[in-house]
Amino acid sequence: MDCTSCNVGSLEPSFIEGQFRAHTCTSCKGNWILIEDYVSWKERNPEYQFSEQCSFQEDGTDSKKALLCPSTGTIMRKFKISSATEHRIDYSANAGGLWLDAGEWELLKKEGLAGSLNSVISQHWQNKIREQSAKDNFADIYLEKFGAENYTKIKEFRQWLDKQEQKADLRAYILAEDPYSAEK
Ligand SMILES: [Zn+2]
Repeated sequence: MDCTSCNVGSLEPSFIEGQFRAHTCTSCKGNWILIEDYVSWKERNPEYQFSEQCSFQEDGTDSKKALLCPSTGTIMRKFKISSATEHRIDYSANAGGLWLDAGEWELLKKEGLAGSLNSVISQHWQNKIREQSAKDNFADIYLEKFGAENYTKIKEFRQWLDKQEQKADLRAYILAEDPYSAEK
């Protein structure tokens, strides 16, 4: 397999810390890990603890460019691994594979995530991230639509309304064309 990150090296079979199967680039030293390899290793070694002492140094050079999956050639998705770092790892859902730039394995260890690589890309985790960014998107849309002042006001009003015992009646009152008419 050719390395899709540096486009120079090739991906050769390797073992991460002598534990589980991976492919490592001969040039940029990035690692390609199939989640199924990781999970089956983990099933055989449930107690194994990776040392969290490591030499990772934040260099702030996480590549922002989209990476292609070395196996299927499709664009991989970027995942934030924690809120503490800007580094993102690339995941190919098509191949079930994870791309770690050189040093990112050390970063995962430092964040205490090396023992749960699979959960980093789990549906639950993905959903949480997605929910947050959807919320942020909606907030932006409302802000633009209503303007800052009105948006603040309507948010406060909504919170107030939610706390009222009679909120259904209050809502009906607001929504009615003419609350003082018997007609709907
Ligand atoms: Zn490479």
